[in-house]
Amino acid sequence: MVSIKSFLSIVAIATIFSEVSAAPRHRHRHRHGHVHAVGKHHLTPQEVQTMVPAGEHTLPELVLKYNKIWSKDNLSFDPNYFKNFTGGQYPGFTWIGCSDSRVASDTLSETLPGQIFTHRNIANGVSEDDANSLAVLQYTIDELKVQDIVISGHTYCGGINAAMNATAFDGPIAKWIKPIADLYEANRDQIDALSPGYERNYALGKLNVKRVVDIVGNLEMVKKAREGGQPVRIHGWMYHMETGLIEDLKITNE
Ligand SMILES: [Zn+2]
Repeated sequence: MVSIKSFLSIVAIATIFSEVSAAPRHRHRHRHGHVHAVGKHHLTPQEVQTMVPAGEHTLPELVLKYNKIWSKDNLSFDPNYFKNFTGGQYPGFTWIGCSDSRVASDTLSETLPGQIFTHRNIANGVSEDDANSLAVLQYTIDELKVQDIVISGHTYCGGINAAMNATAFDGPIAKWIKPIADLYEANRDQIDALSPGYERNYALGKLNVKRVVDIVGNLEMVKKAREGGQPVRIHGWMYHMETGLIEDLKITNE
């Protein structure tokens, strides 16, 4: 006999299955490789979590389960779908964005595997003493020869909020957000004149994107590439979580 709990699981699995299996079909049909929402909206992790009885499945468990379906489904449309990726990557741009789970760069940019080289950290930073972000840029410029680098901030950024309340943090977070906290201090009059919440977060978020665009534009590796005839354009964007729209801040450094 099927218990209520397992019945709910079956409903959840069936629903997710239809989402998971519908997406690649649609994807393969679209000429430019853009993925559009199919039928119902895509399930959010929160919805998945609430649909699945507590304690029965964690999200990682579900991912392992549905990954098999996703792989099989892609292969049923193109037996070489995955094999085609193994010959190398030629991404069209590099995305430096925030780690925030709500600003998944591939999803919001409607791009497919192979199209964006990505680096994400708290509040989309690059710093001259951070080997991680610098190594990503070095590989992007020197090896992948990517010509467009996007620094994307986003509204409702927790990292930006933290920088406006920096004394509440210590350890690695405090160290990482220090340059943004300093930026806030330097522009405090202008930012504090705005309403608390959204407006202040947006204003400091934009200044932070500009700060990072400038840092990247001044890197030796960027100067060297440009001198050698390789174009490197650094764009500043803001993703609006409340509308799903990307705003070009029109501060491209080239
Ligand atoms: Zn953020």
